[in-house]
Amino acid sequence: MSDRIESAPAEFTPSESDYVPEPHPEGMVERVSGEKRFLVIHGIWSQGASNNASAAAVRDTTLGDGTGRFPDYIRQSTGGHLRVVGDFVGDLDLGARPASCDHSDQLANARRLAQQAGYDYREYDYTFFAKPYSSACNWGGLAAMPGNWSIANGNGGSLSVWTHEFGHNLGFAHIRERIDCPMQDEVVDVDGCTSKGSGGDTGDTMGAGGTARYPTIYRSFHGWWNGQESVKITRTGTYQLRALGTSGVQELLLPVAGGDVSLEYRRHNPQYETRDPMYFEGISMRQPRVSGRVITNEIIDGSPHIAGLHKVLQLGRSAEFRASGLMVKTCALTESHAEVAVAFQGDPLPN
Ligand SMILES: [Zn+2]
Repeated sequence: MSDRIESAPAEFTPSESDYVPEPHPEGMVERVSGEKRFLVIHGIWSQGASNNASAAAVRDTTLGDGTGRFPDYIRQSTGGHLRVVGDFVGDLDLGARPASCDHSDQLANARRLAQQAGYDYREYDYTFFAKPYSSACNWGGLAAMPGNWSIANGNGGSLSVWTHEFGHNLGFAHIRERIDCPMQDEVVDVDGCTSKGSGGDTGDTMGAGGTARYPTIYRSFHGWWNGQESVKITRTGTYQLRALGTSGVQELLLPVAGGDVSLEYRRHNPQYETRDPMYFEGISMRQPRVSGRVITNEIIDGSPHIAGLHKVLQLGRSAEFRASGLMVKTCALTESHAEVAVAFQGDPLPN
């Protein structure tokens, strides 16, 4: 058994297969809301030769007060519909560092040792396990999807590993994107886009968003609204879309082929949206794909003229869903809201 200290990766980057599908975990309800109890376990190998976030850092990130911590992230991402409380057990001696990476074994071991220390995971809704880094594990984080456990591999002091892995617990898969969309006269031809797996959405922690707050589609999936925040549009007109996380209508649903497209307007919040503000200067268009208790965000590229992560429909630009006879245009962007024009069945776009 080597005592070599393994160096952890500097930053968390989700890997393609960092989740374990669990189609029917017992006791899980379809919609997750209310107060949830988290048991956070921070462990070390008995040799002491491990590279891990400190117990203090993991505790502060996962259960600490104030902005930039997981409980506040969840409060802001769910409009207060999901609340995080919990207990922490730190510097738990996990025994000798295993040579291989069996996450089931390691999680079971950590839970058993935490039980011996007086923390029974069965009394909690979720287990977060901040384990010491191991290069035998080829992931930065791992989670059940949906499910009740997440593991960080040496990087448990990073907020983004928990926002992403807990997203898997809530049934959020890795995003897809619809790109290479033709565009003419500032109108994006959405039916001409190509759909592909993975990719970038700066407004989603499940795809290139870092700690970006959960987007509208996930809020609707779990019912994290008070009643009037999500509205389906069926008539030609100009509609106000309030900034995400405020009050009033924050999601406009457009009926198109293959399911509703969700429109979101998000003001850049430097505490959680770590990407450049320019990525949020416009309307995000996402088409959720729901299969059982798993939801996949497919973001539509509203900025095909800009390469890379830029996806929003900018001011003055339109998107056309030809097969559905629908046009949408970003007409105004202010501090508090956006104005969006929608036209059905060949109607002209309202001014
Ligand atoms: Zn993932």
